[in-house]
Parts: sequence; structure tokens; C-alpha cells
Amino acid sequence: MEAEKTARFAKTLLELRKQLTGDYARVVEESSEEFGHDVPDVNDEAARTISRRILLEIGDKNYNVINEIDNALERIDDGGYGVCVECEEDIPEPRLELLPYTEHCVECKEQLEE
Ligand SMILES: [Zn+2]
Repeated sequence: MEAEKTARFAKTLLELRKQLTGDYARVVEESSEEFGHDVPDVNDEAARTISRRILLEIGDKNYNVINEIDNALERIDDGGYGVCVECEEDIPEPRLELLPYTEHCVECKEQLEE
């Protein structure tokens, strides 16, 4: 994929990541309010409760998407972006426009979901 296009997808991915982690940060903040203003220690029971709550609130889906975005950004760095990890064919651009963090072409994704 041309560097210019990759750069555009990288920008989209970063924007999306910012939105999703923004939700994440908001939930952290709301949860901490419930626990008072003490910043809980990571090993603290309260902190563990907060993390569990965050995962529930933003949902596993968002959390997975953040992971997928990170992976996609890594592939941009490695130059492997836009290539299906399964069949190693180029993922069509319209698909990347819809799902910039996808790592599968439509065919492989459908097979995986069956
Ligand atoms: Zn494929």
C-alpha cells in the first residue's frame, strides 16, 4: 500500500483509538468518584474492582477493538498493513475504510466466523 494511504489509515486508527480510550478514561473517572478521591494502588482491591467495572461498562467489544487498533498500528509500522493475516492477500480498500483495524479479508473473516 502506498505510504500516503497508509498514513491516512494510521490517522483514522489513532482518532478511533482516542475516542475509545476516551470512553475508557471517562468510566475510570466515574468509577473513581464512587471510591472517593484517593487514587487507588494498582494492587488495591478497589483498583481491581474498578478495572472489572471498566471492562463491563465499555464492554469486551470496545476493549477488543482497542487491541485490534494497536495491532493494526503495529502492522503499519512493520509495513504489513492492509494484508490479510490468513491468506496474505491485499484487503480491499473499501473494507479498510469501514473497518480500518481489520486483519482479515471478507472471505477469511466469514470462514473464521462459521
Ligand atoms: Zn484472507
